Amino acid sequence: MQKLSDRINSLPVSQTLAMAAKARELKSQGKDIISLSLGEPDFNTPDFIKEAAKQAIDDNFNSYSPVDGYLDLKEAICEKFKRDNGLIYQPNQIVVSTGAKQSIANVAMVLLNPGDEVLLPAPYWVSYSAITTLAEANFVEIPSTIDTDFKITPAQLEAAITPRTKMVFFNSPNNPSGSVYSESEYRALAEVLEKYPDIYILSDEIYEHINYGEPVFSFASIESMYDRTITVNGVAKAFAMTGWRIGYIGAPAWIAKACTKMQGQITSGANCIAQRATISAVSAPVSKIKYMVDEFKSRRNMVIELIKEIPGLKINEPQGAFYAFPDVSSYFGKTIDGYAINNASDFSLFLLEKANVATVTGEAFGAPQNIRISYAASTTELKEAFKRIKSVLV
Ligand code: GLU
Repeated sequence: MQKLSDRINSLPVSQTLAMAAKARELKSQGKDIISLSLGEPDFNTPDFIKEAAKQAIDDNFNSYSPVDGYLDLKEAICEKFKRDNGLIYQPNQIVVSTGAKQSIANVAMVLLNPGDEVLLPAPYWVSYSAITTLAEANFVEIPSTIDTDFKITPAQLEAAITPRTKMVFFNSPNNPSGSVYSESEYRALAEVLEKYPDIYILSDEIYEHINYGEPVFSFASIESMYDRTITVNGVAKAFAMTGWRIGYIGAPAWIAKACTKMQGQITSGANCIAQRATISAVSAPVSKIKYMVDEFKSRRNMVIELIKEIPGLKINEPQGAFYAFPDVSSYFGKTIDGYAINNASDFSLFLLEKANVATVTGEAFGAPQNIRISYAASTTELKEAFKRIKSVLV
């Protein structure tokens, strides 16, 4: 008899990874699938980073690293925070992990108790809710729609706070909506949080460089928030290093210390070669990756226009990340080609089955009217994908 724990049974499968796996499987069966499911740059890791990794192998970086990361990497991350975010951290406030996902899981595990509440402005990345569940806390969605550019207001934040609220997650640029909070919008939210000194803030800034407007404003740079904000970042998205698995936090030293303790019992230090390569990545001027950001921006512009050509889809103008998040609810209740579409999951499966295009349902992101389309794919693939989508919908 197979008896899994309640813990794993209560955990939903990651819908981003599930859809990517499904697309891979269908491709391996010979189906001509275009996968716009995963948020993964289609560029190669830049040569200067690959060279640093090769050098690290030749220099025999093959032993366990310190659990929280090599000191020179943590110093380079402190420099990066100062240069890009105006944030002053010391190395004892930095923890390097196996991807930003582990960074977030560490923070949740060390701060949350069973029954605590975590506020998730929706739409939010699929794993925030799952990680909260894993930590036996409860997540509370704060809804937003395309009409407010998927941002929440200070009044909404305040209304969601209860005596059980322990944390709030912010993510700007946002996955999946691409929305970016301005400095004044973040300051207005901080004004609310100033009244509740026991609430911690996790600010996920993994898309900071994939940003088409003003430089991203870091929540921890608001003085009153610095002591209770955990800034999460990593190299996956900006440096096309998703598979290298390096994320990190800048946090109050006591939280960093607890995360190191947690990580020390689960995975230890992150991969040593990837850590050495990350020193080159975080030390590089942002101009070195501009060619990728420029390309994402031109794809964004193209994808918005292509979406606008499809009747019934509503779209905001994403200011960052590499996702379009159209509202597809005008199709709910319709039957197309014998296929009944009653929700975003149906819509996404319809596109997969009828157009051979993989997307992710908004339900997984707390936005049941939308689907997520990743435009981290070649222009040729994107054009072909929208030709197919249009042909099955119009
Ligand atoms: N963060 C990316 C995404 O949302 C990668 C997959 C995942 O870890 O969720 O597609």
